[in-house]
Amino acid sequence: MGTELGKYKSCVSARSTDKEILKGAQDGGIVTQLFAFALDEGIIDGAIVAGAGDEPWRPRPFIATTKAELFAARGTKYNICPNVSFIKEATRSYGLDKVGIVGTPCQMQAVRKGQLYPIGLRDVGDKIALAIGIFCMENFPYQSIVQLVEDHAAMKMEAVKKMEIGKGKFWVYGQRGQVVQLPLKVTHKYEQPGCHVCLDYVANLADVSTGSVGSADGWSTVFVRTRAGDSVWAKAIAAGCFETQPIEKVKPGLELVSKLANEKITKNKTTLEERATFGVGKALRNPYI
Ligand code: FAD
Ligand code: SF4
Repeated sequence: MGTELGKYKSCVSARSTDKEILKGAQDGGIVTQLFAFALDEGIIDGAIVAGAGDEPWRPRPFIATTKAELFAARGTKYNICPNVSFIKEATRSYGLDKVGIVGTPCQMQAVRKGQLYPIGLRDVGDKIALAIGIFCMENFPYQSIVQLVEDHAAMKMEAVKKMEIGKGKFWVYGQRGQVVQLPLKVTHKYEQPGCHVCLDYVANLADVSTGSVGSADGWSTVFVRTRAGDSVWAKAIAAGCFETQPIEKVKPGLELVSKLANEKITKNKTTLEERATFGVGKALRNPYI
């Protein structure tokens, strides 16, 4: 495997040992369990998660400082939740000194960039204690999700229990047990165009990153990437928060993660090159020089 999976110290297949977390989690409940443990241990004093917004399945950044608040934010919402924009709020208005944050790979890049070049984030970088990244192939504008659910899957947004992309399909699960699957060739045209130049699938810059791909249903693939990530992960394992299996023993395992990461990178590099040929790349030059 090459650079497509980023640098990491260890990788396992895992799931939370807390049945309550698993009930509402998207996959193995890694994000909620790790934040809940970090909160209990004082490693973080709050986490920026995707909370409920004004419309169903339209998330809004939320600063969770209790386990109940973390639980309420479980599950994947397939549209942008600008969690990075809440970092300052978390430290200034909520007075957090040790901030947890979850986000897509692009959001993890923004977190690290904010730490290196703290324009608008002065005195905040050091307060990011745990950055958990979630794998991401693509995302959608909110209106696209409404169209996919209401027009294509014929379900009301408020009646949806879970959405999921997996096994080559977009799945919509209703609260009354209905399941609708849409082929990805239907969903592709609804994707956010900005995602088509994104070259990170597995949140290379997170402390810990996780997604379902590679592991069995209800389990997650987990990359532990940094010293901070390694420290909290080791403590959580020692405390019995997770069941784990060596990733080498799991099917389809890292081979599939690697394949999808490479597919994303190759496809999106082509888009980048195409865009450069019609002038977007050139426009970055100063026209007055
Ligand atoms: P849970 O314990 O259920 O917690 C999930 C956490 O993520 C919660 O804190 C929640 O608030 C937060 N969250 C939910 N939606 C968002 C959001 N939009 N932005 C920021 N934070 C959010 N996994 C794959 O394996 N392959 C993929 O191709 C893939 N694509 C994804 C695309 C998108 C747009 C998103 C948001 C996620 C994607 N995932 C993908 C990740 C996957 O769906 C799960 O989020 C991940 O496995 C974590 O599951 P969990 O059970 O550990 O998390
Ligand atoms: Fe961000 Fe890339 Fe995911 Fe789009 S595909 S939401 S740019 S990480």
